Amino acid sequence: MIATEKRITPAPLTQLTEEEKMFQAAVRQFARERIAPHVREMDEAGAFRKDLIQEFFKLGLMAIDVPEQYGGSDGYFFESILAIEELARVDPSAAVIVDVQNTLFNNAIVRWANEDQKKKYLPRLAKDTVAAYALSEAGSGSDAFAMATRAIDAGDHFRITGRKLWITNGNEAGLYLLFANANPDAGYKGITAFLIEREFPGFKVGKKEDKLGIRASSTCELILDDCRVPKSNVIGEIGKGYKIAIETLNEGRIGIGAQMVGLAQGALDHSLAYAQQRKQFGKLIAEFQGVQFDLAEMAVEVEAARLMCYNAARLRDAGLPFVTEAAMCKYFASQVAERCASRAVEVLGGVGFTKDYPVEKLYRDAKIGRIYEGTSNMQRVTIAKQLLGNRS
Ligand SMILES: Cc1cc2nc3c(=O)[nH]c(=O)nc-3n(C[C@H](O)[C@H](O)[C@H](O)COP(=O)(O)OP(=O)(O)OC[C@H]3O[C@@H](n4cnc5c(N)ncnc54)[C@H](O)[C@@H]3O)c2cc1C
Repeated sequence: MIATEKRITPAPLTQLTEEEKMFQAAVRQFARERIAPHVREMDEAGAFRKDLIQEFFKLGLMAIDVPEQYGGSDGYFFESILAIEELARVDPSAAVIVDVQNTLFNNAIVRWANEDQKKKYLPRLAKDTVAAYALSEAGSGSDAFAMATRAIDAGDHFRITGRKLWITNGNEAGLYLLFANANPDAGYKGITAFLIEREFPGFKVGKKEDKLGIRASSTCELILDDCRVPKSNVIGEIGKGYKIAIETLNEGRIGIGAQMVGLAQGALDHSLAYAQQRKQFGKLIAEFQGVQFDLAEMAVEVEAARLMCYNAARLRDAGLPFVTEAAMCKYFASQVAERCASRAVEVLGGVGFTKDYPVEKLYRDAKIGRIYEGTSNMQRVTIAKQLLGNRS
């Protein structure tokens, strides 16, 4: 007979620790009380309020998994995912500011920077400095390593020339993790990561894009004209920037997945509230089975996307392989966000199509999930490579 000793089963994916619950509740309250009243105004202005960014810092949201010794909140990557989800539920623009800071920038510095660089920069990132991640260019998006920005070795410093495009947080940032090729003959093995301070000579922030969605999040061009960058600001090894870019983006994708889960949940929240107060044919529209089915379908999709996201984040925190799961969660959650936002506009009927209700904005905001940090096609490429054993 097989022994029936009680085994310890792994915790359900959505079961949070007491600390995670408290953190999630604090971010939820902050998003509802402090961000929600300004969402429409910020979307229309195409700018995020500086006072709210300062509040992100005060709440510890800008250095969530940075060790305490550098001024951070000493949390897990998973907590960044919870924060991004809760913020996106109210405003996906707020979420992406926190997302880039934590999952792309801080993450790269904690993992790849040397001790001097960590001591110098991490406390600033925790206290008051917004960061940006600059990889894309006009000619290199999906084919990111075809970048034209060049770094020339000039003894104790590099001289960088080129233009970066589409850089989130570009307008507000004080620090930029920027990729340039220091040895084009070596192809992608010349790509090097540099930490650039906004005040470095030869660096300037260019045009800000006028966008369909996440309008309050700045998306800017960066111009480097013989920008002088000390060698002490190379992050990781010269020629290993491609590895930093790939590995941080793998993690970043879970953040975008979380942004899309939060957006979809927000669309469901608004649909539930409206359906329980709008009357037609003498009844609440929530009493019609057609509307109930819409709500049920949205809830199923949100749950599935959330489970995929949480699983990818938990795998990452456990030090287990997560690259395929990260690509899958971003790919799926961005579709769910589009579908839920679209359904929400329909549940609200005519008012859903107006700017008086938040769902038309969520509908516009959802589209970016299928584009940045690797388009949906590039996620499918990653997933298929895994299935087919890296066949090119
Ligand atoms: C609002 C916003 C914020 C952004 N923030 C940042 C940021 O902070 N930092 C940063 O570095 N970048 C950022 N980006 C850039 C973003 O990552 C790129 O736009 C994205 O990777 C796609 O590149 P692309 O726009 O050049 O499109 P392209 O690469 O030109 O793609 C166009 C189309 O071709 C398809 N395609 C391309 N190659 C293939 C292929 N091999 N197989 C199948 N289909 C393919 C794509 O899927 C897409 O549908 C941002 C972009 C936007 C719009």
